[in-house]
This record gives sequence, structure tokens and C-alpha cells, in this order.
Amino acid sequence: MIIVLIGPPGSGKGTQAGILVEKLGLPHLSTGDMLRKISAQGGAEAEKLARCISEGKLVPSGLINDIVRKVLSSNECSSGYLLDGYPRSIVQAKFLAKIAQQDIKVLYFKADEQVIIKRILGRFSCKNCEKIYNEHYDKPKIEGVCDQCGHKEFVYRKDDNKETIIKRIKEYKKSTYPVIKYYKDHGGFFGIDANQSKEEVALEVDRVLKRV
Ligand code: AMP
Repeated sequence: MIIVLIGPPGSGKGTQAGILVEKLGLPHLSTGDMLRKISAQGGAEAEKLARCISEGKLVPSGLINDIVRKVLSSNECSSGYLLDGYPRSIVQAKFLAKIAQQDIKVLYFKADEQVIIKRILGRFSCKNCEKIYNEHYDKPKIEGVCDQCGHKEFVYRKDDNKETIIKRIKEYKKSTYPVIKYYKDHGGFFGIDANQSKEEVALEVDRVLKRV
């Protein structure tokens, strides 16, 4: 099965993907994580990419489609995968439809703007295992120590600041919102109330996936 998690920045796609991979055993493919890794490698291209991300813009679809094509053709993805942050435009959705080998199920994480802004501003993650936390809702059980791997260093994303969030939400409305309509028209589409807590969203996702 191919599961696409779609929704605005801060709607909890990455957090729920982390929960789902444990349950379903499918690889978690976050295009944001892939691009951040490439942009940290240094060189002119990487710098261009880092600028694009820090300005809250989408990177060109040609580039991201090439990356996705390579990853999806690997053995690891042969029995399905969980896409987080892709597709983000109609061009990408059509590209995925062409290369996908299985049925696509879409989970749409719907959340209010004030909720996502508060979540993004409080978000941080473990520098080692990348587990996501939140200052307001979801701190490590022992302060300063990652629950998952015990590491003691945490990082904030450079694009998780007020100015860039506004730009990312604008980009989402312009480019990604039409993808929601595209999937609604193609079936296999399920809405999730992403304003709820992480635990409540996980239960709703479970209920939906039992029906598909
Ligand atoms: P995310 O981690 O999903 O919030 O993505 C962080 C940033 O990476 C986005 O704001 C974009 O600049 C870039 N990005 C991630 N996925 C895509 C995509 N599918 N298409 C274009 N840009 C992307």
C-alpha cells in the first residue's frame, strides 16, 4: 500500500508518520528530510536548495521528482511506503500517479492556522534519531534527554520561524491545496481532524486505515 500524508506545515504529518512506520513496517519517506540532508552537504547546488527551504518556497518539481523516482525504485519500497510531504503540487501528484505501482491512499491532515503556527514554533527534534518533540505539548519524559535514543542534543529547524511559516502556509495554499481536490476526485481520500492531540490523531488514523 502507498500512503500519502498531506496537510499544511505543522499539521503533524511527520509525527504520525513516525507512529505509523512502527505499526505498518513501511518505509517513511519525508521529502523535507531528504532535501535538508542534501542541502547540508555543501557546494553551490546545496546552498541554492538551503536558500529555497529557508525562504519557505517549494523546490523545483523536476528536482524533487528525480529524487523521489530514485528512492521509490529501491527494493526497500517494493511493498509500499509512506510519503510525507510529497506530492505538494499537481505536477508532482501526476508524476506519482505515473510511477506508483500500488493503490494510493491519501490521509488529509486538516488543521487550523493558529494551531499549526503554535505547533511549529514549539517544535524541536533529537539531533541523533530525529524524534520530534514540542515545547507546548510533547516534551521528553526526562528533560534534555531523548525518550527514544537517550541523546542529549536537540535541534530546531531553521525554517520554523514566524516569518518563514507565513510564507510556507501561503505556498501550501497556492500549490498544495489543489492537490487535495485532485485526490478527492480520484478516490482513496480520507480527512483527519489534525487539530486534536497526537494520541487522538493516531487513533483516528488507525480507524481510517482499518476501513481501507
Ligand atoms: P517539510 O519538512 O515537509 O516541511 O519540508 C521542508 C521544505 O522542504 C519545504 O518548505 C520545501 O522548501 C521543501 N520541500 C519538501 N518537500 C517538497 C516537495 N514535495 N516539493 C517541493 N519542495 C519540497
